[in-house]
Amino acid sequence: MSVRPIVPIGHPVLRTPTIDVDPADIASPEIQGLIDDLIDTMRHENGAGIAANQIGATARITTIEVTDNPRYPYKPPIPLTVAINPRLEPIGGETVVINEGCLSVPLRGDLVRSVTVRVRYLDRDGLEHDEIKRGLTAGTWQHECDHLDGRLIVDRIDPATMATWEQFEAHQRDAFIERITRFTEEVGS
Ligand code: ZN
Repeated sequence: MSVRPIVPIGHPVLRTPTIDVDPADIASPEIQGLIDDLIDTMRHENGAGIAANQIGATARITTIEVTDNPRYPYKPPIPLTVAINPRLEPIGGETVVINEGCLSVPLRGDLVRSVTVRVRYLDRDGLEHDEIKRGLTAGTWQHECDHLDGRLIVDRIDPATMATWEQFEAHQRDAFIERITRFTEEVGS
């Protein structure tokens, strides 16, 4: 188990779609060790989630967790989730504008996400999950599955809203948190 360096935007591994894990390999030390590294690195960096290619690995695995997150204090809690070979399907067609950041990108900005998604994945014990996610939690799942497909927030952000974290805090944060807190109360997670 170890904290690994985050791969920054510009490295081709972030643009390379990850490869499904053979379910027979989930119990292997390589995959279990990668999962442990993802969890350690995500927690160390205060990420809400992390995708395997963000630490240079090619397997289709993401981990997600939100507790009291200083980077994203407005996000509803998400218990530690390990998702292997996740597949995501928008439900309904309702969308919401979310201001997102990313451990691999030094900017934030507004982008459009589906409000409701169905996610199917295997956990680290190889058990199948089929779940509905809503709101900011659905947004986090879409962000991580984008990574696993080789996509980054810069592909989706409205360029006029791009900001450094410092400028976001100064000019956008209060209005965003007010709007997104109301939204979260309405739709849940
Ligand atoms: Zn990211």
